[in-house]
Amino acid sequence: MNKSFVVIGGGITGVTTAYALAQRGHSVTLIERNRYAAMETSFANGGQLSASNAEVWNCWATVYKGMKWIFKKEAPLLVNMKPSWHKLSWFAEFIASSPRYESNTIATAKLAIQARDHLFAWAQQENIDFDLKKEGILHIYRDKAGFDHAAKVSTLLAAGGLTRRMSVFLMTKPNLSRADSVWIDSALPALQNSTEKTGISGRIAYGR
Ligand SMILES: Cc1cc2nc3c(=O)[nH]c(=O)nc-3n(C[C@H](O)[C@H](O)[C@H](O)COP(=O)(O)OP(=O)(O)OC[C@H]3O[C@@H](n4cnc5c(N)ncnc54)[C@H](O)[C@@H]3O)c2cc1C
Repeated sequence: MNKSFVVIGGGITGVTTAYALAQRGHSVTLIERNRYAAMETSFANGGQLSASNAEVWNCWATVYKGMKWIFKKEAPLLVNMKPSWHKLSWFAEFIASSPRYESNTIATAKLAIQARDHLFAWAQQENIDFDLKKEGILHIYRDKAGFDHAAKVSTLLAAGGLTRRMSVFLMTKPNLSRADSVWIDSALPALQNSTEKTGISGRIAYGR
């Protein structure tokens, strides 16, 4: 039976929801407060149709990172510290979800794969040419801790059906810490006893 729907917000979420409903034969009205669709968060983003970023942020590491970013002018994410009930309850919910970090990451990977498949299929169906490239995305890690964390995330994503390949490569890095130096030696035996440890390494994980 056909129904009538009103979708509020013409970003990627609203537009694709309206599209999916219309495809099922429903009558849809999409309401957007800006003059055009996708003028807010969906405007000029990174343009990646990737499932590789499915790791959820709900974990203590994000909280610590966020706290450090408060004091950094060039932080990638800024939080307005002015308190409000909505903000406090949002943070409480964010932290309360952290025990489900692993299961939520696996579930998000599954969802992301399905969403990506829908977007590819819809673009093809509607003949939308947007210079799509399916060559994968490089993730570059500059230290052992970052790479080790990515390896753990890869295991979770794989449980959700997303495989990421990982490999080792060389890049310069000044002021190697002792931990990094030891790691590089064990990761790259050929470099052991090298007199040229002026700055080496990082690794890459890349996925779809
Ligand atoms: C810098 C940056 C880079 C990113 N890069 C990527 C990427 O490469 N790949 C990726 O997948 N994701 C990326 N993202 C995330 C992605 O852009 C967002 O998750 C996505 O755009 C959110 O879409 P949305 O439709 O939920 O929200 P929005 O795009 O913000 O849409 C919400 C819409 O609702 C409208 N609205 C709100 N309230 C009302 C109201 N009361 N009445 C009418 N209309 C209303 C707003 O005007 C807006 O148009 C990036 C995000 C950022 C900030």
